[in-house]
Amino acid sequence: MIRRLLPLATLLVATVAHAAERKQPNIVLIFADDHAYQAISAYGDPRKLIETPNIDRIGREGMRFDRCLVTNSICGPCRAVVLTGAYSHVNGFVNNSNSRFDGSQITFPKLLKTAGYQTAMIGKWHLESDPTGFDFWQILYGQGVYYNPPMNRLGERTPTNGYVTDIIADASLDWLKKRDKTKPFMLMTQHKAPHREWSPALRHLDHDKDRKYPEPATLMDDYAGRGAAEKGQDMTIRNTFTQLDAKLTTPPSLNAEQRAEWEKYYGPRNAKFQEANLTGDDLVRWRYQRYMHDYLGCVRAVDEAVGRVLKFLDDEGLAENTIVIYTSDQGFYLGEHGWFDKRWIFEESIRTPLLVRWPGNTKPGSATRALVSNVDFAETFLDIAGVPIPDRMQGRSLVPVLRGQTPADWRKSFYYQYFEYPTPHRVAPHYGVVTDRYKLIHFTGGTGTTDYWELFDLQKDPSELKSVIDDPAYRDTRATLEKELTRLRTELKVPAEIPAMWHANPPGAGKKKQQKKS
Ligand code: CA
Repeated sequence: MIRRLLPLATLLVATVAHAAERKQPNIVLIFADDHAYQAISAYGDPRKLIETPNIDRIGREGMRFDRCLVTNSICGPCRAVVLTGAYSHVNGFVNNSNSRFDGSQITFPKLLKTAGYQTAMIGKWHLESDPTGFDFWQILYGQGVYYNPPMNRLGERTPTNGYVTDIIADASLDWLKKRDKTKPFMLMTQHKAPHREWSPALRHLDHDKDRKYPEPATLMDDYAGRGAAEKGQDMTIRNTFTQLDAKLTTPPSLNAEQRAEWEKYYGPRNAKFQEANLTGDDLVRWRYQRYMHDYLGCVRAVDEAVGRVLKFLDDEGLAENTIVIYTSDQGFYLGEHGWFDKRWIFEESIRTPLLVRWPGNTKPGSATRALVSNVDFAETFLDIAGVPIPDRMQGRSLVPVLRGQTPADWRKSFYYQYFEYPTPHRVAPHYGVVTDRYKLIHFTGGTGTTDYWELFDLQKDPSELKSVIDDPAYRDTRATLEKELTRLRTELKVPAEIPAMWHANPPGAGKKKQQKKS
């Protein structure tokens, strides 16, 4: 009898302990815009562009994801995917140009709110319609501006004074301090930085003391070995850099005092640049250096903002029961292939940084190569909160991965699709399948002869410089990937015909006026 009771007692203790563990954890999603993993020191870029001690801390005390892929690599669509756990063709927000988020659809913040969470969204929203599912929201108008950005606070225009990243961090901490402490919380703190035109905080203008940054090997890429889409795009540092990108004009939102400080830094350096009268590759090299200075300057303020949130959680004794996620809406080019921007299925664009700290669940300092995605985030947050995941969601909870127990049937392939064309960067629409080693891509029209297929072997060609689509050695690989692509398109209910409006401008509608080039 005693022998039979003992296991029961043990079970009861375990159940009570489990119930205590089930106390709904708080969730803090720190979301940057266009933050390349190459600009996070935890990801070990060989150029060693920057140290990001606070962002790295999340990885050091949690898990670093090395293969977090986005479904459609541009700002608005990625945000819609995160909220809905569904691909663009399901949630309806397909491009940045004419999409408007349908706020009546199911999102994870709404479900968490129903489950008793306090929810807040602070920072860059960029989904056209007002946020839904939040107890509190304070967002930038559209893309927002870097200096003194007016914000929309629950529908009311609110002026601000200062640098956008600091203002978003201040508002986030302010909400955390004033929250109802009897409830768990979910905070989305979403930065504008380091999005184009990548303007740093004034205190960071001289952050690198005129350091000369190592160039990527492909800065002068001529796109040989690839097709018309790569050759026909319009997102190069060489051809598409504006005066504002280069900081040869002053951002208009600065006030007089800020403007003086800004000009004190850039003025003499710009005068030296004008004197040098650079052309060709020399001009590309100069712009790359200016780009790195500005972009990485923005990252410094984001890292500081992350540090402030982590410190708040420490000081308030919240760190143990709070899951902290650092990620970006997508990846970004830092001069690789001569590019800035994103959009492509290629590595620097499709891969987004993801670092997660979840005390008692993630092993400190762990890393994974599991193929995960922003389409998994909503499912993960619901799972963590003990909320059932709706059938409409198309991703999968990362909870087992975070616990170091990636299921044997975890996805081995991933579907990607990009629509926006031709503005703003003439990246031809395409879709494809990505595995641990390969990418099979179908460009579906846009720049002349752009209905063609490509295949890349990332193991032999990590920089994706030469398509092997016609190489007989890859015939079987291609056939297998084609089959997998068809399977994924069926499973994800991808429409066979893409509506013309899913492109920024339907083909034939003309090209939007380009910004003045530097
Ligand atoms: Ca973005």
